Amino acid sequence: MPQWSNTPPERTTPRPLPIIRTPVGKSLAATILSDEMIGCPTHFWGGRTSPCEAPDCDACNHGSPTRWHAYLAIYSAENQSSAILELPDAAAEQLALLARGLPTLRGARIRVSRTKSTRNARVIVDLRQPLMPQPPIPAAPDLPAIMAIIWKLPASTISTEQSDLRRAAIKLDALVLAKRNGKPLPPKEPDATPRR
Ligand SMILES: [Zn+2]
Repeated sequence: MPQWSNTPPERTTPRPLPIIRTPVGKSLAATILSDEMIGCPTHFWGGRTSPCEAPDCDACNHGSPTRWHAYLAIYSAENQSSAILELPDAAAEQLALLARGLPTLRGARIRVSRTKSTRNARVIVDLRQPLMPQPPIPAAPDLPAIMAIIWKLPASTISTEQSDLRRAAIKLDALVLAKRNGKPLPPKEPDATPRR
Protein backbone atom coordinates (compact mmCIF):
# COMPACT_ATOMS: atom_id res chain seq x y z
CA MET A 1 0.00 0.00 0.00
CA PRO A 2 1.42 3.47 -0.84
CA GLN A 3 2.70 5.41 2.15
CA TRP A 4 1.11 8.74 1.36
CA SER A 5 2.18 11.95 3.08
CA ASN A 6 1.64 15.59 2.30
CA THR A 7 5.28 16.70 2.75
CA PRO A 8 8.43 15.32 1.16
CA PRO A 9 10.65 13.36 3.55
CA GLU A 10 13.43 15.27 5.28
CA ARG A 11 16.85 14.62 3.81
CA THR A 12 19.35 12.95 6.11
CA THR A 13 22.35 13.51 3.82
CA PRO A 14 23.49 16.66 2.03
CA ARG A 15 22.26 17.09 -1.53
CA PRO A 16 25.14 16.99 -4.02
CA LEU A 17 25.77 20.44 -5.48
CA PRO A 18 27.79 21.50 -8.52
CA ILE A 19 30.70 23.89 -8.07
CA ILE A 20 30.37 26.80 -10.46
CA ARG A 21 32.74 29.59 -11.43
CA THR A 22 31.82 33.08 -12.59
CA PRO A 23 30.46 32.69 -16.13
CA VAL A 24 32.13 34.28 -19.14
CA GLY A 25 30.24 36.92 -21.08
CA LYS A 26 27.32 37.25 -18.66
CA SER A 27 26.73 37.85 -14.98
CA LEU A 28 25.41 35.45 -12.39
CA ALA A 29 23.02 36.65 -9.69
CA ALA A 30 21.88 34.56 -6.75
CA THR A 31 20.97 34.62 -3.08
CA ILE A 32 23.67 33.51 -0.64
CA LEU A 33 22.75 30.52 1.55
CA SER A 34 25.96 30.34 3.62
CA ASP A 35 26.50 32.46 6.72
CA GLU A 36 30.08 33.03 5.62
CA MET A 37 32.44 32.02 2.84
CA ILE A 38 34.99 29.33 3.50
CA GLY A 39 38.20 28.86 1.57
CA CYS A 40 41.47 27.00 1.38
CA PRO A 41 44.63 26.81 -0.73
CA THR A 42 43.97 24.79 -3.87
CA HIS A 43 45.88 23.50 -6.86
CA PHE A 44 44.85 23.20 -10.47
CA TRP A 45 46.16 19.70 -10.72
CA GLY A 46 45.26 16.75 -12.91
CA GLY A 47 42.84 18.92 -14.91
CA ARG A 48 40.77 19.98 -11.92
CA THR A 49 40.84 22.20 -8.86
CA SER A 50 41.58 20.25 -5.71
CA PRO A 51 42.58 21.26 -2.18
CA CYS A 52 46.21 21.48 -1.15
CA GLU A 53 46.81 18.61 1.24
CA ALA A 54 50.11 19.87 2.61
CA PRO A 55 52.31 18.61 4.18
CA ASP A 56 51.65 15.39 2.23
CA CYS A 57 50.53 16.94 -1.08
CA ASP A 58 51.16 15.33 -4.44
CA ALA A 59 50.67 18.63 -6.31
CA CYS A 60 53.07 20.53 -4.00
CA ASN A 61 55.62 17.76 -4.40
CA HIS A 62 55.43 18.31 -8.17
CA GLY A 63 55.92 22.07 -7.83
CA SER A 64 52.33 23.08 -8.61
CA PRO A 65 51.55 26.56 -7.20
CA THR A 66 48.69 27.03 -4.75
CA ARG A 67 45.83 29.50 -5.12
CA TRP A 68 43.39 30.33 -2.37
CA HIS A 69 39.77 29.93 -3.40
CA ALA A 70 36.63 30.81 -1.48
CA TYR A 71 33.40 28.84 -1.63
CA LEU A 72 29.87 29.80 -0.71
CA ALA A 73 26.51 28.18 -1.25
CA ILE A 74 24.10 30.14 -3.44
CA TYR A 75 20.50 29.72 -4.52
CA SER A 76 18.87 30.87 -7.71
CA ALA A 77 15.17 31.52 -7.11
CA GLU A 78 14.67 31.72 -10.87
CA ASN A 79 16.02 28.21 -11.49
CA GLN A 80 15.12 26.91 -8.03
CA SER A 81 18.60 25.43 -7.82
CA SER A 82 21.50 25.62 -5.39
CA ALA A 83 25.19 25.53 -6.23
CA ILE A 84 28.59 26.23 -4.73
CA LEU A 85 30.15 29.39 -6.08
CA GLU A 86 33.95 29.36 -6.34
CA LEU A 87 35.65 32.74 -6.03
CA PRO A 88 39.31 33.56 -6.62
CA ASP A 89 41.14 35.25 -3.74
CA ALA A 90 40.82 38.82 -5.08
CA ALA A 91 37.05 38.44 -5.52
CA ALA A 92 36.81 36.92 -2.04
CA GLU A 93 38.65 39.95 -0.65
CA GLN A 94 36.16 42.23 -2.36
CA LEU A 95 33.25 40.20 -0.99
CA ALA A 96 34.71 40.45 2.52
CA LEU A 97 34.99 44.22 2.08
CA LEU A 98 31.40 44.57 0.88
CA ALA A 99 30.14 42.28 3.65
CA ARG A 100 31.75 44.31 6.44
CA GLY A 101 29.06 45.23 8.91
CA LEU A 102 26.64 42.57 7.73
CA PRO A 103 25.86 40.10 10.53
CA THR A 104 25.70 37.26 7.98
CA LEU A 105 26.02 36.70 4.24
CA ARG A 106 22.93 34.49 4.30
CA GLY A 107 20.06 36.09 2.44
CA ALA A 108 22.25 38.74 0.81
CA ARG A 109 22.20 38.86 -2.97
CA ILE A 110 25.43 38.45 -4.89
CA ARG A 111 26.15 39.25 -8.51
CA VAL A 112 29.42 38.20 -10.12
CA SER A 113 30.72 38.99 -13.57
CA ARG A 114 34.07 39.29 -15.35
CA THR A 115 35.87 42.38 -16.59
CA LYS A 116 36.41 40.77 -19.98
CA SER A 117 34.95 37.91 -21.97
CA THR A 118 37.80 35.57 -21.19
CA ARG A 119 37.80 32.56 -18.92
CA ASN A 120 40.24 33.89 -16.37
CA ALA A 121 39.39 37.59 -16.51
CA ARG A 122 39.12 39.33 -13.14
CA VAL A 123 35.89 38.70 -11.23
CA ILE A 124 33.76 41.65 -10.14
CA VAL A 125 31.57 41.15 -7.06
CA ASP A 126 28.47 43.11 -6.20
CA LEU A 127 26.59 42.53 -2.93
CA ARG A 128 23.06 43.70 -2.10
CA GLN A 129 21.14 43.58 1.16
CA PRO A 130 18.56 40.80 1.59
CA LEU A 131 15.16 41.42 0.05
CA MET A 132 12.52 42.45 2.55
CA PRO A 133 10.48 40.49 3.28
CA GLN A 134 12.97 37.68 2.74
CA PRO A 135 11.59 35.06 0.34
CA PRO A 136 12.03 31.47 1.60
CA ILE A 137 15.44 29.98 0.81
CA PRO A 138 16.81 26.49 1.47
CA ALA A 139 18.86 25.76 4.60
CA ALA A 140 22.60 26.41 4.32
CA PRO A 141 24.28 23.20 3.12
CA ASP A 142 27.25 21.71 4.98
CA LEU A 143 29.94 22.92 2.58
CA PRO A 144 32.99 21.13 4.07
CA ALA A 145 31.11 17.81 3.91
CA ILE A 146 29.97 18.38 0.32
CA MET A 147 33.38 19.64 -0.78
CA ALA A 148 35.04 16.57 0.75
CA ILE A 149 32.78 14.40 -1.39
CA ILE A 150 33.31 16.41 -4.57
CA TRP A 151 37.04 16.49 -4.00
CA LYS A 152 37.07 12.75 -3.34
CA LEU A 153 38.91 13.18 -0.08
CA PRO A 154 39.77 9.96 1.75
CA ALA A 155 36.76 7.99 2.89
CA SER A 156 37.80 8.50 6.52
CA THR A 157 36.58 12.10 6.25
CA ILE A 158 33.16 10.97 5.03
CA SER A 159 30.55 9.08 7.01
CA THR A 160 29.28 5.79 5.58
CA GLU A 161 25.78 7.11 5.04
CA GLN A 162 27.27 9.61 2.59
CA SER A 163 28.84 7.00 0.33
CA ASP A 164 25.90 6.89 -2.09
CA LEU A 165 25.95 10.63 -2.30
CA ARG A 166 29.69 10.48 -2.89
CA ARG A 167 29.17 8.30 -5.94
CA ALA A 168 26.49 10.65 -7.22
CA ALA A 169 28.76 13.63 -6.63
CA ILE A 170 31.67 12.01 -8.45
CA LYS A 171 29.45 11.51 -11.50
CA LEU A 172 28.08 15.02 -11.21
CA ASP A 173 31.59 16.40 -10.86
CA ALA A 174 32.67 14.58 -14.01
CA LEU A 175 29.70 16.04 -15.87
CA VAL A 176 30.38 19.56 -14.66
CA LEU A 177 34.06 19.25 -15.49
CA ALA A 178 33.31 17.88 -18.95
CA LYS A 179 30.87 20.71 -19.62
CA ARG A 180 33.32 23.30 -18.33
CA ASN A 181 36.07 22.01 -20.58
CA GLY A 182 33.72 21.69 -23.54
CA LYS A 183 34.49 17.99 -23.78
CA PRO A 184 31.99 15.29 -24.67
CA LEU A 185 30.20 13.90 -21.65
CA PRO A 186 31.78 10.82 -20.12
CA PRO A 187 30.14 7.53 -21.09
CA LYS A 188 27.64 6.02 -18.69
CA GLU A 189 29.74 3.46 -16.89
CA PRO A 190 29.71 1.55 -13.66
CA ASP A 191 30.35 3.80 -10.66
CA ALA A 192 33.88 5.00 -10.19
CA THR A 193 35.53 3.15 -7.32
CA PRO A 194 36.53 5.54 -4.56
CA ARG A 195 40.25 5.87 -4.04
CA ARG A 196 41.80 4.20 -1.00
ZN1 LIG B 1 49.69 21.34 -2.06
